Amino acid sequence: MLDQIKLEGKAFKKEYKEVLNNIKKFDRIAIFRHIMPDFDALGSQFGLATWIKDNFPNKEVKVLGDNNVVFTKNGLYPQTDKLKDSWFDEPFLAIILDVGNKKRIADPRFEKGTFKIKIDHHPFGDENLFDLEITNTHAVAASELICNMLFNFGNKYFMSKLAAEYFYSAIVGDSGRFQYSNTTAHTFTLTSKLLTSGIDIVSIYEKMYRKEIADLEVIKFILNNYKISEQGVAYYVFTNDDLNKFNLTVDRGKENVNFFSSYSGIKIWCSITEDVTGPCFRISIRSRRYVINGVAQEFKGGGHPSASGAEIKDLTELPKFIARLDQLIKETDNK
Ligand code: AMP
Repeated sequence: MLDQIKLEGKAFKKEYKEVLNNIKKFDRIAIFRHIMPDFDALGSQFGLATWIKDNFPNKEVKVLGDNNVVFTKNGLYPQTDKLKDSWFDEPFLAIILDVGNKKRIADPRFEKGTFKIKIDHHPFGDENLFDLEITNTHAVAASELICNMLFNFGNKYFMSKLAAEYFYSAIVGDSGRFQYSNTTAHTFTLTSKLLTSGIDIVSIYEKMYRKEIADLEVIKFILNNYKISEQGVAYYVFTNDDLNKFNLTVDRGKENVNFFSSYSGIKIWCSITEDVTGPCFRISIRSRRYVINGVAQEFKGGGHPSASGAEIKDLTELPKFIARLDQLIKETDNK
């Protein structure tokens, strides 16, 4: 179900009730998210896990997916749970957050869930994978949808400071600190409710965005090597050798993609990072007003209208990819 209605409390009333009933019904709950997680994926997961444990202390709640050094290094999120396959043989509720494509769910054992709930804000999810879906592409973050649901459960339930911290980081992350176009009055209403839980936003921002002096060398490399296409696509490439030189993981390659977001001649911006395990080059694409997820889909990817991911086999495919974005800019400007 892809729901295009605006984010209002009552929109998913029936589904919200069903989520709550299932949380009450199952003693064992596993929470999943997408591979190569970001703030929204991790904040949603740990936020919901914490909320369930705070309100239903007798439940066994597990957080699944690989640990991610980028987003855990400053202590913002704890480690995920390492579970043997046998854990999944008993009945459990699977809650899948911030992802709707089977191949992008970080742990395939979600499929063993007795009942499977998806809560997501991405378009183009796989059909018929879940027993219950709450999808709204208007939400700036999956956490916006989750908080909307949790606050709609009513005052009987409690949002702890820790749960609110996780959710706040998720919303800040996916809204680019409240800059992206899906940031609405609703986003601010929800985040203001999170603030009333007593969270310390200064320490959250510090954990999210603190960098090391060594990171300046990475910026220097990007500034020395970035390119801008004819129509205004800015991009930089990290080969595997570059990553090794700077001691970067593949998912850190995209960390600086938004460096290009504020320059008037730049309409779309990308980071392109070699992943020898693919083997491929992973691309993060961002824009202000150009709808890029269609092109991302053409290059084995997908995502949101102005933040998407894609991949190319090797750098020989790069000119074709950039030319396709140039064409998109031309088509959009001529409309
Ligand atoms: P990234 O550049 O990897 O941060 O991805 C930007 C956005 O696009 C995130 O919301 C991702 O979840 C989404 N995304 C990235 N790759 C894919 C893909 N292959 N299919 C669908 N969505 C994707």
